[in-house]
Amino acid sequence: MRIGNLDGRSTLFRDGGAVDVEQASGGTFSSDPQAVYGRWDEFCRWAAQQPGTPQPYSPDKLGPPAPRPEQVFGIGANYRGHAAEGGLEVPEWPMVFTKYVSSFAAPAGVVTLPTDTVDWEVELVVVVARTAFHVPAERGWDYVAGLTLGQDLSERTTQLLGQLPQMSMGKSFPGFSPTGPFLVTPDEFDDPGDLQLSCLLNEHVMQKASTAELVHSVPMLIGELSSVLRLSPGDVIFTGTPEGVGTTRKPPRYIQPGDVLVSRLEGVGEMRHTFVAASAQTPSSRKDV
Ligand code: ZN
Repeated sequence: MRIGNLDGRSTLFRDGGAVDVEQASGGTFSSDPQAVYGRWDEFCRWAAQQPGTPQPYSPDKLGPPAPRPEQVFGIGANYRGHAAEGGLEVPEWPMVFTKYVSSFAAPAGVVTLPTDTVDWEVELVVVVARTAFHVPAERGWDYVAGLTLGQDLSERTTQLLGQLPQMSMGKSFPGFSPTGPFLVTPDEFDDPGDLQLSCLLNEHVMQKASTAELVHSVPMLIGELSSVLRLSPGDVIFTGTPEGVGTTRKPPRYIQPGDVLVSRLEGVGEMRHTFVAASAQTPSSRKDV
């Protein structure tokens, strides 16, 4: 099953078309894309009957599949190559931070660059299906609603400000957490633990990896996070980025105004973002031009 957020409404995607969940269910299920995770099993049973008639839709109206999670987790240094390029040890226990929900964004669009040190991080993103607390890793997949694609855009100056890392702030500027284009349930993949992930800047491949390379796999993360706290339906986990970010290149390469960033995840799809300088968007600077 492939679901998502079309123009702010919960939507099933089938046969290349879109089925509005509230309309096709006669109001049984809410139009709110976040609400579906609270009734996940019931929703899956309904969706399995292939309700409604798929209609053509405009991909530029897609939004984040889980737009307002109760909790958002980011995982640092979760691929050996990325840990190595950053001079970090692979952590035995996952390195966890948050990306604030105010940074959530659509799978296509324009992102404002607050500075000239913004970096890309393509990631597999997990949405939680049901309350999870003290779940053994072997049962981790049972708690996953689906997989989607994300960018953990990172402002490296803020992230590394001061003596201690400011991961959550550096990764939460507006537009810094796009996800999509769809949420795909694990049963749709031959192996949901081995998906090709890549990111291209101006058509040059910057990152390319398999999610099989994750140090802390999806089920391990469900086990590890839920050993401390209660995961809720609709919670979002950015699972970490592979090697190839811009900040550790020599010389460093950061995102510049006009750059085009394309992100891809096998079996899920593609995101496409362009970038503008902060000053280009203020009314006063527009007058100057
Ligand atoms: Zn990241």
